[in-house]
Amino acid sequence: MSAFPVDDRNRIRRKPQRGSYEREVVYAILDEALYCHVGFVEDGWPIVIPILHARQDDTLYLHGARASRLLKHVAAGHPVCVAATLLDGLVLARSVFHHSLNYRSAVVFGHGRPVEGAEKREALRLLTEHVARGRWDEARLPTPQEEEATAVVAIAIERASAKIRSGPPVDDEADYDRPIWAGVVPVVQAFLDPIPDPRLPADIPLPASLRDHRRRSRLP
Ligand SMILES: Cc1cc2nc3c(=O)[nH]c(=O)nc-3n(C[C@H](O)[C@H](O)[C@H](O)COP(=O)(O)OP(=O)(O)OC[C@H]3O[C@@H](n4cnc5c(N)ncnc54)[C@H](O)[C@@H]3O)c2cc1C
Repeated sequence: MSAFPVDDRNRIRRKPQRGSYEREVVYAILDEALYCHVGFVEDGWPIVIPILHARQDDTLYLHGARASRLLKHVAAGHPVCVAATLLDGLVLARSVFHHSLNYRSAVVFGHGRPVEGAEKREALRLLTEHVARGRWDEARLPTPQEEEATAVVAIAIERASAKIRSGPPVDDEADYDRPIWAGVVPVVQAFLDPIPDPRLPADIPLPASLRDHRRRSRLP
């Protein structure tokens, strides 16, 4: 996979050694993150909205109610900025100043467009599969009325960057002799045992999509 073009918008200025413009790096983060935050400007005021996403090649898909302000804004072709973040650890330094977080994050810039027809159906499949792989083949598929009530939009990923912090705290040299605990508390997103719907008949077994539900995470 190739790297994204870099301009003033996606050039990482602060700690550029933690950055990457490689599609492979950016897309691994987008695909592992269950949801993203979409930022846009409306009437001169910035707004950031969290939402489920799915990616195919250089396209991000979002879906929701037709009345959604965010989806209408994206469908109108406006520029948007999307951020996805994975938290990997708490970084406890000897000094308060150097406390931090370990993370993998991606920031994407692009323009939106509406999605209809066969691409819309495929986007709905990708969004469903993003939540639990295999679910599209297990659940009842959308009726024409349900599909009509759902808006799907696409964002062309034109520019992007990834930033990754990993490893131990970085303290000032003079602080390493202090008797203060320092290190990393690893953080993982864990999926616990599924809880059946109270209205689920007892003889319906756990579906294949949930039998090994680790998505694309780095969990063992
Ligand atoms: C979970 C988390 C916690 C953080 N906590 C802090 C904190 O407490 N204090 C702090 O100063 N910084 C923190 N950061 C880093 C923060 O995201 C910014 O990178 C940093 O603040 C510099 O911002 P800037 O606008 O000056 O970056 P610039 O380098 O000027 O940004 C230029 C371009 O670089 C890219 N870029 C910048 N940051 C990121 C990113 N995180 N991921 C992907 N691309 C990026 C974007 O394309 C952006 O437009 C945190 C990051 C994460 C993911």
